[in-house]
Amino acid sequence: MGQENNIIEVWNEAVKDLQKHVSESTFSTWILPLEPQYFDENCFVLHTGQAFAANLLRKNHYQEMLKAVKQATGRDLEVKIIFDEELAKKISKKEKAKYNTKEEFDTPAKLRYDSLTQMQSSNLNLKYKFENFVVGSNNKLAYVAAQTVAKNPGTKYNPLYIYGGPGLGKTHLMQAIGHYIIKNRTDLKVLFITAEEFVNDVVNALARGDEKTKNMNKFRKKYREVDVLLIDDIQLIAGKARTEEEVFNTFNTLHGAGKQIVITSDRTPKEIPSLSDRLVSRFEWGLMADIQVPDVETRMAILQNLAKDTNLEVPNNIIEFLATVYANNIRELEGAFNRVTAYASINEMPMTIDNVKKIINYNEKEKSYTFEGIVDEVASYYNISIKDIKGTGRCAKVSEARQVAIYLCRELTKQSFPVIGEFFEKKHTTILYSYDKIKEDLILNKSLSHSVESIINRICK
Ligand code: ADP
Ligand code: MG
Repeated sequence: MGQENNIIEVWNEAVKDLQKHVSESTFSTWILPLEPQYFDENCFVLHTGQAFAANLLRKNHYQEMLKAVKQATGRDLEVKIIFDEELAKKISKKEKAKYNTKEEFDTPAKLRYDSLTQMQSSNLNLKYKFENFVVGSNNKLAYVAAQTVAKNPGTKYNPLYIYGGPGLGKTHLMQAIGHYIIKNRTDLKVLFITAEEFVNDVVNALARGDEKTKNMNKFRKKYREVDVLLIDDIQLIAGKARTEEEVFNTFNTLHGAGKQIVITSDRTPKEIPSLSDRLVSRFEWGLMADIQVPDVETRMAILQNLAKDTNLEVPNNIIEFLATVYANNIRELEGAFNRVTAYASINEMPMTIDNVKKIINYNEKEKSYTFEGIVDEVASYYNISIKDIKGTGRCAKVSEARQVAIYLCRELTKQSFPVIGEFFEKKHTTILYSYDKIKEDLILNKSLSHSVESIINRICK
């Protein structure tokens, strides 16, 4: 099953590339009906049920096909196109059946055709599926919510709002919803978009003066005719009034029509500066689910999962080492893992801790920052106790120390405000207030900025 999925995905990638390089009629008549059969390190085999297709494609489009397969597999493979009589018979039977039964959706070719067109218009990345998302206590709620939404789009948790620090799997989970729906509901149109692209679309539509109305209509059609809208990193629309207005209108139209909306952000709606109240309240209508930093076991499970896809034996102590060093961001954890495995395999280097340290430029100073470590240094700098910092005392020195600790926890770990709030046992609005206050005061208050700098130097020592 995994193998089969895999070849279909690889072929879908190649097809996407081919579509750009052949005419539309060649594409729909000859390329789309091809059935990927198998591939190994030497060749990629396709079956056709059309008697002329093999010759025609070999003669006229072979170079494009080689390139597309190379693009999708990363390898120079020979492409073989085989005329398959069995397949020809199967297709002609289905063609006949198509007009009087609903069974057409069950034929693999048709399904693939639909999934493919759906895939292309959806903007999704094939890597981000539920199958390769590791579930831990840090993302369980968001995962379960995402699955619920994927299985019942538009009926529960609308919108689903997923938030958390960078590199923790928000985009992955959001796209997994899209893939699941495309695979299981060929009738639904899915669109993934980053808030940045949305902003650009608004700006472009408004830019050309005389065609403004036409452009705006086109823009609205694009976003309002989908069944599932996935908007990534919504915090980026903050302060852009026209974009906010369009998000508001799009939201209302889709939500009113029972269409699913999924939003991600690095913070809660309330924490997005200057986001209008009406948007804040709408984003809070459905379910808000946060993703936190995974514990070390989950980080190791993520690496074990990646290791399965390489043909290298990655020793457990290396997995544990990397999972310990990269504590706050899975993107960085993955990046380090990829560097290590690539380097080790190219240079045929044994994977020892010493070698790995060299490859990742490991430097004891660059250890991940922990809340405890930060609070410790702040307490010792101000010469007060950790208990004071985490307490509620309001004397000036203690207040400042607490706010500096909160500020540094956010700056150095990039953790979300609610997570920091949990650590300090304070409401996240308090955390947000402290963070903003220090950030602002640092601009004018020389003595404060001196203190903060000294503390950072100590923490990073
Ligand atoms: P975010 O959008 O929160 O910044 P991404 O979704 O881009 O983060 O995730 C960063 C990288 O980490 C991606 O390559 C993603 O596949 C991977 N990743 C994140 N969380 C998980 C997880 N729970 N299981 C497997 N991979 C994950
Ligand atoms: Mg993201």
